[in-house]
Amino acid sequence: MNWINDKLFILPINTYIDPYKPVENAIITHAHADHAKPGHKNVLATKETIDIMKLRYGVNCAESFQVLDYNEKLIIDEVEITLYPAGHILGSAQVLVEYKGEKINFTGDFKTTYDTTCENFEKVECDILVTEATFGLPIFKHPHPKFEIEKLFRSLNFFPKRPHLIGVYALGKAQRLIKLIRDYGYDKTIFIHGSLEKICEYYEYSKINLGKLSKTSFKNNNVFKGNIILAPPSALRSKWSRQFSDPIISHASGWMSIKQRAKQSLVELPLIISDHADWNELTQNILDSEANKVFITHGRHEGLETWCKQREIAAFPLALSHRSEEGNE
Ligand SMILES: [Zn+2]
Ligand SMILES: [Zn+2]
Repeated sequence: MNWINDKLFILPINTYIDPYKPVENAIITHAHADHAKPGHKNVLATKETIDIMKLRYGVNCAESFQVLDYNEKLIIDEVEITLYPAGHILGSAQVLVEYKGEKINFTGDFKTTYDTTCENFEKVECDILVTEATFGLPIFKHPHPKFEIEKLFRSLNFFPKRPHLIGVYALGKAQRLIKLIRDYGYDKTIFIHGSLEKICEYYEYSKINLGKLSKTSFKNNNVFKGNIILAPPSALRSKWSRQFSDPIISHASGWMSIKQRAKQSLVELPLIISDHADWNELTQNILDSEANKVFITHGRHEGLETWCKQREIAAFPLALSHRSEEGNE
């Protein structure tokens, strides 16, 4: 890997992958804030990632943008770049870089679980795999999202008068949860905090039907009784949330599998819904990639390192600064 350094800098083409600081050339895996920063000169990404970056940071957040579709090869000098679906959020990509016969694949954030709000994960073979490891411990085994949605509806049946206030990140998790709820057959209005509106509209524009959504307004609190309200996790602890009478506080996140964490954040109804690979998905992907060398980025590296070494796959941690430890914005 001497032509790519530990800052994910591709030397022969002066290009970084998901750089934290403004650079001349950046390939962006997806639009979450810990991967996509404003201020680069040239940005290469999928159309959706570029659109969402412009929505969040403004149309001039980079000097120039180049769209690269999934599975389409771009050759710059002698370096070949291909983006593959990462199944994490709308527009998310893995980046395969080939140079002088060597293939390095960067998973970015990914999950292999089926998701109807984005292109689903595609297996990529490579010599060297750079994998995320947000949930890189054997204790992390995400349940099927269907069970979690059933949990939510059991609660709605049991407490038909209480508003169900669910914490979700604005990009990706909110839309996926809405779609899961719709796929369960729920067609009532879902209320959303104002900060979720723009991205929900963009998903709709991308032909992901989210059904009837309404921005919360507090003229008549009775409308929230027995209804579902989605809001960013920070809003659950703010003055805003105190306007609901007797709400059930819920949070949809892979971290909700840690009971202590749910308890500490006073979450009554934890929903374990993750947009990151769990332990089984992480290890299966290492096998599927057929890589003989693995670099482990943001997350828990020790468990995966040991697992790789037991299978005679060389494995090393790659400490990328400034990635959110939570990793599921
Ligand atoms: Zn992400
Ligand atoms: Zn991330």
